[in-house]
Amino acid sequence: MTPPRKLHIKSYGCQMNVYDAQRMVDTLAGEGFVETGSVDDADLVILNTCHIREKASEKVYSELGRLRAVKEEAARNGRQMSIAVAGCVAQAEGSEIVARAPVVDVVVGPQSYHHLPELLARAAKDGRAIETEFPVRDKFEFLPQPKPDAIRARGISSFVTVQEGCDKFCTFCVVPYTRGAEVSRPAVKIVDDVERLADHGVREITLIGQNVNAYHGEGPDGRTWSLGTLLRRLADVPGIVRLRYSTSHPRDVDETLIQAHRDLAALMPFVHLPVQSGSDRILAAMNRRHTADDYRRVIDRFRAVRQDIAFSSDFIVGFPGETEGDFRATLALVTQIGYAGAYSFKYSPRPGTPAADMQETVPAADMDERLVRLQELIDSQQSAFNKALIGSTVDVLFERAARNPGQIVGRTAYLQPAHVMAPEEIIGQVLPVRIESLARYSLLGELAAVPQCRPASSAQMTDSSVTRMGA
Ligand code: SF4
Repeated sequence: MTPPRKLHIKSYGCQMNVYDAQRMVDTLAGEGFVETGSVDDADLVILNTCHIREKASEKVYSELGRLRAVKEEAARNGRQMSIAVAGCVAQAEGSEIVARAPVVDVVVGPQSYHHLPELLARAAKDGRAIETEFPVRDKFEFLPQPKPDAIRARGISSFVTVQEGCDKFCTFCVVPYTRGAEVSRPAVKIVDDVERLADHGVREITLIGQNVNAYHGEGPDGRTWSLGTLLRRLADVPGIVRLRYSTSHPRDVDETLIQAHRDLAALMPFVHLPVQSGSDRILAAMNRRHTADDYRRVIDRFRAVRQDIAFSSDFIVGFPGETEGDFRATLALVTQIGYAGAYSFKYSPRPGTPAADMQETVPAADMDERLVRLQELIDSQQSAFNKALIGSTVDVLFERAARNPGQIVGRTAYLQPAHVMAPEEIIGQVLPVRIESLARYSLLGELAAVPQCRPASSAQMTDSSVTRMGA
């Protein structure tokens, strides 16, 4: 019997890339590949790249430099190793990658990785293969389903892509160029995926998309389904106890989504809703197509139906033309909303985006100073949010054994890690935990209920911290 070939994937960036990496593993499993945690014994190494962060492509080239040495060592030992670059840097810089790094065998964009087996075969024959066109047919039509043991090995929480690409064209962002136009998967395919995951032990689903609440997939009734309608259907899948979605745009929050938060016990009351800036002038320069007040009103609509809802966000400081007054408007917005957490970054230009040509750059020292002020404010809000849980009892979905012997770790509705001393049978269950203390961002507590001996039905496992409100 031929021994399995070994595949090592290094994935950078967002949850879409984590999901794509898993689907690459599923695709290549059919070709006899198994995953390895080490590059040294890999027959194929895939760098699944991200273009969002600063100097993304430079990081890829320096990683490729390291891999060249590993590949040469493998060749000296009589072993052939292939290197593929996937993801958004591959999409944006396909031919430049092979020109600068001849060590690369395959370059594949994020919409084409279902072609990896053919591309590897072509590279073996011709020396190299590149595919970065946006294909006419959706890759999801071709991707194989993950095997049951792969689903179980990935744990009780899973991402499912429902939508890809973006039509918003924020002036700082590369996504519309690297991931292409918005495309939504048909609802029936998503329901099939979720049912299959639930059948093999998954309890929590996070629906993902670059602009997830712009979802407008074909429904089984022939109508276009919104994200809210899709969530309503998925809440009925037996075994699924928690639903989340990410990442949303404030302009695409429609009434079906608000009503889903009002009605669905399984939909977690924690929404990541990027705003980027609190200044209308900067929001206009970013082409966000909403004002700070529009954003405040969206938050109010969520809060009107779920008093326990919490928010996180993304912020860019030092966008071209940002004055101290603009920045203070951001601080004012953060103070007013009160976040459970947020990501904040200094602006850095992405080649090919409109903002990269803007002239009014903010001095680096000002950016540094503003970032510190913003992060101090966000940290203080996050810390207050976490501390407020001490002494209360919250529901936790238990995920895995923790590093400390005897401890099991899970997540609250707000994604805070929570640790308890308990048997491993509680993994996959939602149980109430009395929170006793806080260690930085992690909660420590003890079970406030006796765990069930065997996996519960979905009805038994519904989150009790989530009050069903309204109709
Ligand atoms: S909405 Fe998000 S993904 Fe789309 S262009 Fe703006 S920042 Fe990028």
